Amino acid sequence: MKNQKNSARRTFLKQSGAAMVFVPTAVFANKAMAAEMLDPASEKAVGLGYVAKTEVEGQLCSNCALYQNGDDTAGDCPLFQGVKVGAKAWCNAWAAKG
Ligand code: SF4
Repeated sequence: MKNQKNSARRTFLKQSGAAMVFVPTAVFANKAMAAEMLDPASEKAVGLGYVAKTEVEGQLCSNCALYQNGDDTAGDCPLFQGVKVGAKAWCNAWAAKG
């Protein structure tokens, strides 16, 4: 009987520990995925001539002065708040880094 209780307690503690590790990881992953990619068909994107893949040689979001917090996949742009722009994308507000 005592061994059964200890076994049940051990199982509970193992599962609780696993949950404590899993929950923060899941929250972090969810935050990282929270920002969606800009839809090139959205009204504002169309208005600024945004394209997901640049057609202007040497100009892409990742080397634009407005590109922030980005990597080689996606980043933030103050012109499109709440969504990510593609690193290889472009719009007609592109500006060279000073
Ligand atoms: S201004 Fe245009 S080119 Fe520059 S980061 Fe924003 S979307 Fe990309």
